Amino acid sequence: MVYRKTKIDGWFELQRTICPICGKSGGCMIHKDGNKVACIRERSEIQFGKNSCQSWLHQLKNGAKVNVSENVAQTKSRKKFPVHILHGFFSKLVSDTTTTISPKHKLHLNGERQISDNTITNRQYRSFPQQPRVTAKNVLGQFEERLTDHNLTMGIPGFYMNNEGWTINGQSGILIPYRNEYNFITGFQIRVDELKNFVETDQINYPNLKAYVKKQPNFVQIQINGQNYWEGELAQGKKETIVDENGEILGTVKLAKGQRYYWLSSPNKKYGTAAGDPVPIHVAIPSNQLKKWNMAIEEDLKNPNIDSYSTLRKADSVWLTEGALKADIAIDRIVEAFSNVIEEVGDTMLATPGINSWRSLLPMLKNMGVKRVNLAYDMDAIENESVNQYFHDMVKEFKMQGYEVYVAAWSLKNGKGIDDCLLNNYLPQLRKL
Ligand SMILES: [Zn+2]
Repeated sequence: MVYRKTKIDGWFELQRTICPICGKSGGCMIHKDGNKVACIRERSEIQFGKNSCQSWLHQLKNGAKVNVSENVAQTKSRKKFPVHILHGFFSKLVSDTTTTISPKHKLHLNGERQISDNTITNRQYRSFPQQPRVTAKNVLGQFEERLTDHNLTMGIPGFYMNNEGWTINGQSGILIPYRNEYNFITGFQIRVDELKNFVETDQINYPNLKAYVKKQPNFVQIQINGQNYWEGELAQGKKETIVDENGEILGTVKLAKGQRYYWLSSPNKKYGTAAGDPVPIHVAIPSNQLKKWNMAIEEDLKNPNIDSYSTLRKADSVWLTEGALKADIAIDRIVEAFSNVIEEVGDTMLATPGINSWRSLLPMLKNMGVKRVNLAYDMDAIENESVNQYFHDMVKEFKMQGYEVYVAAWSLKNGKGIDDCLLNNYLPQLRKL
């Protein structure tokens, strides 16, 4: 499926098909009339979708044949439970005896990421359960039956029901908890062990050509008008133009690398629930403080009034980045590297899953009483033009709302992300913008 229904009426996200404006796949949207695109990478005069994910409106000169009805993947999902209820289930998930951290995953965290065993324990990293059915049963306990009520409109991301009962959707990898400003676990990302390739095509210009990976990593089948046309191995990352015997272009294919991080999510499954809406934001604090925070939240949960929760993390200064694991690693290093000015720079780091969801930070910054933000996004990303546009808009908006804005900068050769830079023992420079 290449067109995914979005929350905006009449707009469909382009998946695994290239956007006619930016030439990339994923994130951009097309209108059902086929005459306009909301591109997340290429700027125009008209901003679109201001609230969560930012994009820009473009008119298509010649229009496009968008056969939406044939190609729509309809997202069906329950709404997520309120955060304190989600936390109840998710904290049971991480404390269940069937979810541990596998030796292989521990090795990755200890080694490449330089995370100690103590920190792994405090941060509650887990491996995706080997027997998701058993884990789901343990986590749901007495609620199993109530969740099966088909009139229920709310659910738990990742959980769904199959023929045998409740289970958890996902694949082998490391489960990374996303915690909000009250230390509620509001979701998980899975750092998958195996990257799955997919084929990117150009459905807007060549809707008759479809292609998919028949066997990972690179054995691909191409179909024209539903008929098998070609199959074989495709080199990764290279766009190929498919031409028939008369030299007529049939379309393009490109074997693209799948993502490393996925949400624990279960839309389009029976009683399933998507991870987003709103997208989880992670609050990373130093590991030793998290240990205490984890104990405090148990007390808070007995209190029905969320506004008076003592676990609300207040912070004058916060760091901002993308990705929870990165934020967790970085904040433990920041308290060491900046120990003499830690009050000033702050010992809290907020992570959105991507830079384009930066707007979803705004309510959280307000709630936490933040006055200063240190932007610590990947150095290579800032050099990337489309990301740079988000960055520019983000800085402008933060300044307009009265925040002091600093940018953390380091040389790309010292590391891509702030976590790499600090793990390599280099100190990022903070510059006021
Ligand atoms: Zn685009």
